[in-house]
Amino acid sequence: MGSRVSIAMKMQLPLHKTKIICTIGPASQSETVLSDMMRGGMTIARINFSHGTLEEHRQTIAAVRSAATKQDRRCPILVDLPGPKMRIGKLETEPLLLTKGTEVTLTTRDVLGTPTLIPVTYQRLPESVSPGSVIYLNDGFIALKVITVLQDDVLCTVTVGGPLLSGKGLNLPGAKIFMAPVTDHDLELMDFALGEGVTTFGISFVETAEDILRAKMFAREKGKKIYVVAKIERAAAVENIDEILEVSDAIMVARGDLGVEIPIEEVPIVQKQLIRKANLSCRPIITATQMLESMIDNTRPTRAEATDVANAILDGTDAVMMSEETAIGRYPVEAVEVMARIAIALERQRHTIRSSIFLQEQLKGELINRQINVPDTISLNVSEAVRALSCPFILTATSGGMTARRVSRLKPDGWIIACNNDERICDFLLFSYGVFPMLMDTGTREWYRRLISLLKSSELVRRGDRVILTEGKFSGTAGGTDSLGIITIQ
Ligand code: PGA
Ligand code: MN
Repeated sequence: MGSRVSIAMKMQLPLHKTKIICTIGPASQSETVLSDMMRGGMTIARINFSHGTLEEHRQTIAAVRSAATKQDRRCPILVDLPGPKMRIGKLETEPLLLTKGTEVTLTTRDVLGTPTLIPVTYQRLPESVSPGSVIYLNDGFIALKVITVLQDDVLCTVTVGGPLLSGKGLNLPGAKIFMAPVTDHDLELMDFALGEGVTTFGISFVETAEDILRAKMFAREKGKKIYVVAKIERAAAVENIDEILEVSDAIMVARGDLGVEIPIEEVPIVQKQLIRKANLSCRPIITATQMLESMIDNTRPTRAEATDVANAILDGTDAVMMSEETAIGRYPVEAVEVMARIAIALERQRHTIRSSIFLQEQLKGELINRQINVPDTISLNVSEAVRALSCPFILTATSGGMTARRVSRLKPDGWIIACNNDERICDFLLFSYGVFPMLMDTGTREWYRRLISLLKSSELVRRGDRVILTEGKFSGTAGGTDSLGIITIQ
């Protein structure tokens, strides 16, 4: 949500501060389902450009916008670019059963797959592997070990067997991949989406800061400014996370591919490390994949899934994401509602849960220890003031969104109302925990009076409540948050 200020309007806040990102697909691309998902708690619509046609994407984008407009809310679109995903080619018969202990050849030649010869889309596979390398197929459910490497063929033994379908993914953990993470095809897709007015892009299989810069540069050459979400799904990205964070606007713990590219037992640890680093650098972080996986077929999640969502929120994630659950599942609306309910319950208690309090204190400690600057000092004091005075709102005029993000990462108990008159900036602020963007002009000094009137008329504040005002007021530089005011509602 997040909306234009019109004094006649009543302001309505979501019931949860955690942002919910839903992948839109055949199960959810109709305007009716989208409307229900928005009412159920969806914050952002993700379109995975690995599937579907441009015409379908155009229709989905239009349907999301139409549903949002009718509900007088914002619903940003995150376009996820496929990147250099390696896949199996077409198989003669499906499913093809690979049996443990048998031999199979992967080939870059254009053939129809049989139980002994399987085509792959990655032309330089023979250069990326050597005898002893492990190759995973189908999200890791099938494992192969390389025996011999030939010109176009890679001879393997099946170490974990199973059924295989055409087009399934192929992962080469730790291998050197001779394909740029931002492919020419990605750029063509981005060009299309830029034309549709999309401003936020997910970049898959990122390895270095350069990959992010390539995407940004392309948009800039087209005269557009974009926000980039770096999907962390390769070991190299985990290693280079500091330089990647520096140039990215947000990151995603893309646990699907990550869980095959690095040992599965390391995923929980990496998730926690990424959340901490993203929080420290004020970049919104999305925890993604299999969060409510069982709801693809069921009306309720497993206990483990509910706990996973809650724990990601406790660790400090800004957003939680659904993939198949909402794209092709049987219960897309129910899945959003469940996600929202878990978030609401958790957020109500987060300030009584010791591990959450500890993490927040640690984050503040780290901020103080590393040569603290003025904006960080202000954000720490905002969070202290919110706690001390039980402030329900933090009002901020934010020029690029940083003031709001700096406060958001500390997970204060009040809503952060972030005012800005740029739709692109407002949309991206919706990725941050507890931030409610308002499209309004903050040029005059009295912008907050209008906002307070709106909070009053919407019955969101009462006489005697304290609200916090924070912005760059005295120094006059962008991103230079330098003030903290406390207003008692009259
Ligand atoms: P994907 O990314 O759905 O595009 O593969 C998410 C992930 O890998 O977890
Ligand atoms: Mn992925």
